[in-house]
Amino acid sequence: MATVEIPRDLLPADGRFGCGPSKVREEQIQSLASVGLSLLGTSHRQAPVKNLVGSVRELMGTLFRLPDGYEVIVGNGGSTAFWDAAAFGLIENRAQNLVFGEFGGKFAKAAAAPWLQSPDVRNAEPGTIAAAEVVAGVDVYAYPHNETSTGAAAPIRRVHGDEGALTVVDATSAAGGIDFDVTEADVYYFAPQKNLGSDGGLWFAVVSPAAIERIERIAASGRYIPEFLSLKQALDNSRLNQTLNTPALTTLHLLNSQLDWIVANGGLAWADARTRESSGALYDWAEASAIATPFVSNPEHRSPVVATIDFDDSIDAAAIAKTLRANGIVDTEPYRKLGRNQLRVATFVSIEPNDVRQLIRSIDYVLANS
Ligand SMILES: *Cc1c(COP(=O)(O)O)cnc(C)c1O
Repeated sequence: MATVEIPRDLLPADGRFGCGPSKVREEQIQSLASVGLSLLGTSHRQAPVKNLVGSVRELMGTLFRLPDGYEVIVGNGGSTAFWDAAAFGLIENRAQNLVFGEFGGKFAKAAAAPWLQSPDVRNAEPGTIAAAEVVAGVDVYAYPHNETSTGAAAPIRRVHGDEGALTVVDATSAAGGIDFDVTEADVYYFAPQKNLGSDGGLWFAVVSPAAIERIERIAASGRYIPEFLSLKQALDNSRLNQTLNTPALTTLHLLNSQLDWIVANGGLAWADARTRESSGALYDWAEASAIATPFVSNPEHRSPVVATIDFDDSIDAAAIAKTLRANGIVDTEPYRKLGRNQLRVATFVSIEPNDVRQLIRSIDYVLANS
């Protein structure tokens, strides 16, 4: 069967709709080219790179409206490394992990380290969110802001458990795309290759004074902590605008230019309105459609940054994604392990709302012509 050819006037200007790595704007790539010779290939212990790390930390402080005492720390290895770092250096005895998709589940596995008590894992069906419950003895309450594997987003609220218990949020795909009140979290961590439109390999964490105290205390406790996964090392190095070992300079530069762009446009409120406009177009389309429905049934839990759309059994969503790909619209396949008849579309801040409307026109065309 011949592949459907989508007319040019229906195509989005940029066909990248993947959830990570996700669209990097052309302006970021141009700005990389313009600084490349003075940045790439230079020492991360000298001013050009240290100033860049400093700029990223400062812009994050502005973007997230950090109150006094909150700090931005950075390390290598992406959010996956942060989970292990948290098991070594943030969880004192026991975590409660809310699991409603792959990523929440991965942190729960890391929190099941042999030197800790088994985590209190609260599972909820994919497409819904789980609720925290105060339990004595739990010192870290952990949940994702946006579960990238399902497109369900949770409100950021502090869990008022035992004295000193920390609220720890995985914001890998949400950071910079969903507005929230940072004082409701002690640790808000993420990697920059999703809504922050950069490349992989680093993790960042916004940490409260209580989290800093916890990191310092566990580091001084005599617990074995590998250097690479030491949050104390990350804290001390970050204060000097450095990392323990060599960071990816390209990732830092692309991230800096994205943060600059978001802040200059109006910060989190602007980004939030833009991602809601894009995702709202998809949800409205699916609600009005006879053959598609938003996967997340509760509208309040539908993610502004990752829209998941289920299709009726009469439609083969994988075939639609394949046709879109052949037409230059890429990465609309669902999360591989979710296994649903679904399209998953990133509506990150870099993605033009008009391109999402064009994507919808393209999907309609494919449906009508296959
Ligand atoms: C992508 C993702 C991760 C993993 O990030 P890496 O940088 O690849 O380790 C973790 N959590 C969430 C919510 C994600 O979307």
